[in-house]
Amino acid sequence: MTDRVDERLERAFDKRTATALGKLGLKTVGDLLGHYPRRYADPGALSDIAALEVGEHVTILARVEQATVRPMRNRNGALMEVVVTDGTSRLSLTFFGKHRGSLYNHEKRLVPGAKGLFTGTVGLYRGTRQLTHPDFTLMGEESDLDSDEALLEHATKPIPIYPAAAGIPSWKIQGALRVVLDTLADADVPDPVPDEVRERQGLPVRAAALRSLHRPATLEEAYRARHRMRFEEAFVLQAALAQRRARTAAEDATARPPLPAGQPGILADFDASLPFTLTDGQRQVGDEVAAELARPRPMHRLLQGEVGSGKTVVALRAMLQVVDAGGQAALLAPTEVLAAQHARTLRALLGPLADGGTLFGAERTGASTRVALLTGSLGAKARKEALLQAASGEAGIVVGTHALLSEHVQFADLGLVVVDEQHRFGVEQRDALRAKGRVSPHLLVMTATPIPRTVAMTVFGDLETSSLTEVPAGRAGITTVAVPAGNVRWTDRTWARVREEVDAGRRAYVVCARIHPDDENDGKSGQKTKASAKDFDDLPEFLDPADPAEPGAGAADRPPLRAVLEVVEELRTRPELAGVEVGVLHGQMPSDQKDAAMAAFASGAAPVLVSTTVVEVGVDVPEATAMVIFDADRFGISQLHQLRGRVGRGSDPGLCLLVSDAEQGTPAYARLEAMTQTTDGFKLANLDLELRSEGDVLGAAQSGRASSLRLLRVVKDAGLIEEARTAAADVVAASPDLTEFPQLADAIRAQLDEDQEEFLERT
Ligand code: ADP
Ligand code: MG
Repeated sequence: MTDRVDERLERAFDKRTATALGKLGLKTVGDLLGHYPRRYADPGALSDIAALEVGEHVTILARVEQATVRPMRNRNGALMEVVVTDGTSRLSLTFFGKHRGSLYNHEKRLVPGAKGLFTGTVGLYRGTRQLTHPDFTLMGEESDLDSDEALLEHATKPIPIYPAAAGIPSWKIQGALRVVLDTLADADVPDPVPDEVRERQGLPVRAAALRSLHRPATLEEAYRARHRMRFEEAFVLQAALAQRRARTAAEDATARPPLPAGQPGILADFDASLPFTLTDGQRQVGDEVAAELARPRPMHRLLQGEVGSGKTVVALRAMLQVVDAGGQAALLAPTEVLAAQHARTLRALLGPLADGGTLFGAERTGASTRVALLTGSLGAKARKEALLQAASGEAGIVVGTHALLSEHVQFADLGLVVVDEQHRFGVEQRDALRAKGRVSPHLLVMTATPIPRTVAMTVFGDLETSSLTEVPAGRAGITTVAVPAGNVRWTDRTWARVREEVDAGRRAYVVCARIHPDDENDGKSGQKTKASAKDFDDLPEFLDPADPAEPGAGAADRPPLRAVLEVVEELRTRPELAGVEVGVLHGQMPSDQKDAAMAAFASGAAPVLVSTTVVEVGVDVPEATAMVIFDADRFGISQLHQLRGRVGRGSDPGLCLLVSDAEQGTPAYARLEAMTQTTDGFKLANLDLELRSEGDVLGAAQSGRASSLRLLRVVKDAGLIEEARTAAADVVAASPDLTEFPQLADAIRAQLDEDQEEFLERT
């Protein structure tokens, strides 16, 4: 027996209906049941016509105000024009007929006062918004249940409005669902939420919830059903994560306990040599990590730390514990620039402790080790040496990019992997890593991108988390100012300020959104440049497609994005910066040039650095105090927060200038405003999520594609996610392989294919 929900729509419906539904990506009865209404229209209230936008596919509830039919002037045929209203605004509907008679049916039905649903794509004709040949269905009309337009059973029930497409209006979807729901038994619908969980939560069975979603008697009923579906989404995901945690907990790892107190070792020597005292947070997280490394089970920990909170030291201390225990540690960075910096920083922090195997090391009485840097662009000789040091175990610490995982790098005894600045180090990479060794190495993932707790639970739910919330004392803070682009006075002042910083012995970053100025586009053509991926170092988050400031949405007269290569030329000729060396850094430069640029900046030889977002994460130059970000409105909040985190790391106050031509009232402007108001990363992250999920959240998830998280909102549903997590943990504890909960196991399997990362990209 095949399950009812697996039944193909071709079998359940006639070919035309099945094909039309297929256009929405719906193939089975289950898909159709999972095509949730985007919203519900109140049958007593008309839709807001003034809010409709040209080009939008809409379904509106409106009343006919007037209808006229006249012969076409230049052609044969007749034209019917119907004006509908919401009581305030009007919209015209046009229908063409071969002759008057062919419009007779419409004439009879679309009489003034008639109320109904109309659907179509909003067009513009001579300045008036209109729908051409809209599909429609009228309230109170005799509807025979076999027809496509069977709907509006009661004029008082909420009308579900579905994500629709041309040729398949909302009420046809509703009609199709009616056919399915009429004969749907509770037992036809597998429920991944076990009965006891469902009852404890006071939730309806899945089939009942589907009925309520698609045919609610009241809005409250629909919302209750939505709540149940949200819980289910959270529950299935959390159960999958709980299973992962359970599996990890059952894996073997080599215990790397700290040396007994008093026994000399690299970690003890390092602690003794630290020029500062650890913050309470660093000490506490350090103890947590130390204890976990000492267990014969792989550590899987996420360390979240505010920008500048000092994660590197925490990681280094963990690595040294492993080295003291005879193992090796790998530190992975997202970029080569960052990997090179880490190697430099670690060597500097370790001093003679990193001279193992050399003459200097031999002069030391205690133990020592080496830090090897292994990146893709290393010369053949250096590369061979680094590989050798990793394979022989001579290098206790190997620093590289993620390529380190995929390449054939041999370790003598890899005990710990630290992944820096990777909030996108997803499940797949974690699995790849686990597959690498005979036994799993311990894993520490670090991110400065503040992740709201529930997002962390959703995305990193299989990791334990620690947080560093305080930054070391003695930092002077950052002032952030939004600067209108193209304002000469502000621009002059900006460079004068940068000059003041330089003269005081400090440094300034200048960040541009792209590398090359566009040759064909000098700004005169007036088109915002459609740049290609290779123009950028970093695509995620950038050029937010949801941003209304994109071309085609009224932003055609915006100047093109500022580019690194153009800005560097400009700065080299600015009188304010006369005599100041201006450096360049972007992802397309060869690696040795990148290193040289970073070094010149760090040393002060070139105290102004024009760069792309390659400096976004992790770069640590304490003397850097100023940052100018061009086209700041084009970056996401978390990216701006990361960028800004590069300055104000020392005892001098930081200054961040966000240059943009964003207009007040736009989401882009709201982002910049938020940036000027707080430096608290967690606040910003929450705000970011709110700004992004503004509008109809369900509408955003409406495409009809089955994504595992469709109704769940990670900020608003925080409480629900917590409940689901607890319930899921209980269920998995009771039946680790879920044999007692086959329907849950099925749901997890079905979801495994769907990429959770996709969700991350969107948030
Ligand atoms: P992030 O957490 O952003 O990666 P880093 O590890 O780069 O931060 O640390 C930022 C700066 O703070 C570094 O220059 C580091 O040496 C310094 N630092 C770290 N811990 C302390 C501390 N306890 N006291 C003073 N400075 C510290
Ligand atoms: Mg860092």
